[in-house]
Amino acid sequence: MTKPRRTTAFRRSQPARLVANETREAAARGEYRVVVQKDYLKFSAAHFIAYKGFREPLHGHNYQVSVAISGVVGADGYVLDFGVVKELTKAVCAELDERVLVPAESDCLEITRDATTVTLTYEDGTRFAFPTSDTVLLPIVHASAEELARYVLHRLRDGLAAHAVRGLADIEVGVSEAPGQAAYCRERF
Ligand code: ZN
Repeated sequence: MTKPRRTTAFRRSQPARLVANETREAAARGEYRVVVQKDYLKFSAAHFIAYKGFREPLHGHNYQVSVAISGVVGADGYVLDFGVVKELTKAVCAELDERVLVPAESDCLEITRDATTVTLTYEDGTRFAFPTSDTVLLPIVHASAEELARYVLHRLRDGLAAHAVRGLADIEVGVSEAPGQAAYCRERF
């Protein structure tokens, strides 16, 4: 499914003539891709995949996150500051680290949450109870690498919107569950 193209608040705020000039200059400069893939962009977390008729046992992974962003090179010589990408990604990883990843939009888990406990009840009655402080409820349907990649992507895109002052083309986030086993999600800005 093709998502409608988003424009940044910065672009919306510019007079049309300036945006047109910027677009022409961007075309002349070419498009580049920056990739951030650092050992420390990781999180260790527990999860299980569940959908109607199937549930994995609870288990964990040492997840690794990578980010690739396409855009044009500005007058300063770069697409965007690597430091911003690293900082935003590290913050999202920290939120997920050493937590149970709960897919809050699951279609087969009944989820309750109070100050102390999060409970997940699968359709066959199997029940998990975790300390609330040890869980993170995510706006995803399944705690798969694919949906985690999309979640991290949306968080980064929101974070970058506050930092990026010129057009970025697209962003791709990879979430690896194990060496040689990763899912990637890419969306346009
Ligand atoms: Zn797994």
